[in-house]
Amino acid sequence: MDTKKTILIVDDSEFVRNYHSYILEQADFRIITAVDGSDGLEKLYLHPCHLILTDINMGNMDGYEFIRRVRADDKYASLPIIIVSTESEGKDKRKGFEAGANLYIVKPSSPEMMVENIRMILVNN
Ligand SMILES: [Mg+2]
Repeated sequence: MDTKKTILIVDDSEFVRNYHSYILEQADFRIITAVDGSDGLEKLYLHPCHLILTDINMGNMDGYEFIRRVRADDKYASLPIIIVSTESEGKDKRKGFEAGANLYIVKPSSPEMMVENIRMILVNN
């Protein structure tokens, strides 16, 4: 039986996408990537996923708008969303939570901490 959980990584940096993909594949997750918010929505509609990891600063559609649009659909009301951003100020975090994020991780973060947080959120979901 396939028990792998799928994570959607949304980030405009190819380096970050590859880095996070590598870390999470090592931790036995299946990965889908998207380059910005609108690509993220398209990927989400095409592939069922268990958790979203998203950047904030992206062209086309930023992370806040992306999260708001995901949350606007009842189908994704309880889908866990984690922001991973270099923005470390309180106002950015508040904006992220107001948009509907469940957790805010400041980049760069340790791979162990990221995997641990993801596992913790998925256990309760
Ligand atoms: Mg970015």
